[in-house]
Amino acid sequence: MNFTTKKRYETDGSVTEFFATVLSCERAGDGYDTILSETAFFPGGGGQEGDEGTLDGVPVTALTERGEAILHRTDRPFPVGSTVCGKLNALLRLRRMQAHSGEHVLSGLLHSLYGSENVGFHLGEGETVTIDTSKRLTDAELTRAEYEANLAVAENRPVKISFPDPETLKTLVYRSKKELTGRVRIVTIEGVDVCACCAPHVARTGEIGQIRILSRMAWKGGLRLTVLCGLAAYEDAKRKTETVKALSALLSAKPEEVADAAKKMKERLDEELKKAALRAAAKREETLRALRERERTEEPAVLWEDGLSRKDMTEYANELSKKTGSLAAVLTEENGRIAYTAASAALDMKKIAPRINEALSGSGGGSSSMIFGSAETTREKAEAFFRSFIPQENDKR
Ligand SMILES: [Zn+2]
Repeated sequence: MNFTTKKRYETDGSVTEFFATVLSCERAGDGYDTILSETAFFPGGGGQEGDEGTLDGVPVTALTERGEAILHRTDRPFPVGSTVCGKLNALLRLRRMQAHSGEHVLSGLLHSLYGSENVGFHLGEGETVTIDTSKRLTDAELTRAEYEANLAVAENRPVKISFPDPETLKTLVYRSKKELTGRVRIVTIEGVDVCACCAPHVARTGEIGQIRILSRMAWKGGLRLTVLCGLAAYEDAKRKTETVKALSALLSAKPEEVADAAKKMKERLDEELKKAALRAAAKREETLRALRERERTEEPAVLWEDGLSRKDMTEYANELSKKTGSLAAVLTEENGRIAYTAASAALDMKKIAPRINEALSGSGGGSSSMIFGSAETTREKAEAFFRSFIPQENDKR
């Protein structure tokens, strides 16, 4: 049998509690699908999720449309002919309406101001709205549209729902993402937007509270805008205020001057880093010159320097190994351990590596000419070990 549910959400988004008669109730999935004489539950569509709520205190877990009927899934059945009380999660409904009606206001303005179509709309987690525009709008254009949108909110314009007959519809200019057939629902925001839409909306734009464009990125031929409206926009602003407050304390700057203060700090830091890099390069040149001028001996050659990079260690060990008939070791501290690079022109470092690891409780390895490793030891012990290293007969290459 074909049932018809009166859809209260189509004409009045503010209804969040209602009484209705059970027209049918049938087993479905792991629960029951109930059709009511009327409902405020929006089943979802047009980029917006279905409502949440209860029937006589029993949670509605799914909503589907079947012809002109709305099916409410619950895990308990309801007797046909009985009266049930439906209750929506009213706050969630309000937040979604703020987001969706806000999207209509902004999209309508982007259309009337710049001729940009809304080619994609999604209402996501936390009522975050994404709008895809058909045109690549400038920041100045977006700023203007955002201002006009908030002006329309402040003017508290009426949001009207209508179902024009086919003749009237033919003459009506309205936004729509697809070709529509049958009964078309038109949402008109006076002076701002006319759009075909199936979702519940606020009664007046003042309920939207505010509309903020948070970000924009290039998307196909246009932009993808991330927008927050109403309570979600307020919560976002609140979080950002807290962030600015924390930055203000860190930078010892007034909240409205944190960007300037951060810019100055970054410039100072960049300058310091540049100077430090120059100092490091000069020090490196000095070390390399000293290594090149060093006398050649048959004793092990050991070099310690603080804060050496692996690249420095390789280069120094290479240079130092030319000055010894034994091995050359370059040492530094790295994350609380002693890092070492040992090289030799005469000895096979691969054969020596296990003895080094054992003596210093370290781990490392590499090629015949150079090994890398790190050890749980002290600078003194590591230096003493390498200085007193005596090669064995079969260490030779
Ligand atoms: Zn819509």
